[in-house]
Amino acid sequence: MRILIVEDERAIAELVARGLKEAGYHVEVADSGAEALKRVEAAEHDLLILDLMLPDGSGLELLEKLRLGGTDVPVLILSALGAVDDRVQGLERGADDYLGKPFCFPELLARVRALLRRGQSLAERLQVADLVLDCTRRKATRAGEPIDLAPKEFSVLEFLMRHRGHPMSRTKIVQHVWGTSYDGLTNVVDVYIRLLRSKVDQPWPEKLIRTVRKVGYVIEGEGAPRR
Ligand code: CA
Repeated sequence: MRILIVEDERAIAELVARGLKEAGYHVEVADSGAEALKRVEAAEHDLLILDLMLPDGSGLELLEKLRLGGTDVPVLILSALGAVDDRVQGLERGADDYLGKPFCFPELLARVRALLRRGQSLAERLQVADLVLDCTRRKATRAGEPIDLAPKEFSVLEFLMRHRGHPMSRTKIVQHVWGTSYDGLTNVVDVYIRLLRSKVDQPWPEKLIRTVRKVGYVIEGEGAPRR
């Protein structure tokens, strides 16, 4: 589990990072909004802990940018602005939880755990048009017909479906599915997409997986709305 802390106050960032590392999480720290955007772009995270007053702007603006960009990573706002207004604004702009400073670390950890659990249990069943993934049983069907997918094929498809409607770069797919940022693997993505298309799209009139030039791949169709 990979957590990104966006916090410019070094003492707080270090305290939170140390505690989360001790709890077994992989932790990164960004000390500005720009740095945070770079890191979100570069790698998949399972949770963002976001300070609201950053040296280069407000955390709320950053959050909005992330959500508009299609990032659906859970976000926990951590801020001295504990007033009800800020809390409401944060939640309205796409945060998942809010903790006011000062806080005690055990409470932060409990909330982090709850958000991570929620993230995992949220989408056990993904659907795009008539293509359905059962992520618990790792089964795929299209129009009710079972599709036989190898584990990595399933993972690539699951990743695209979790971000339906948002093009994903080859690098992001490699990072997520193979857990590496080794660039030599990006061609492998094309191979897997070909395999997936032959199984998931080719037999049906509506094609769901699309190539987005100079970006990567996206899956979309007339399925159930994205949650
Ligand atoms: Ca700050």
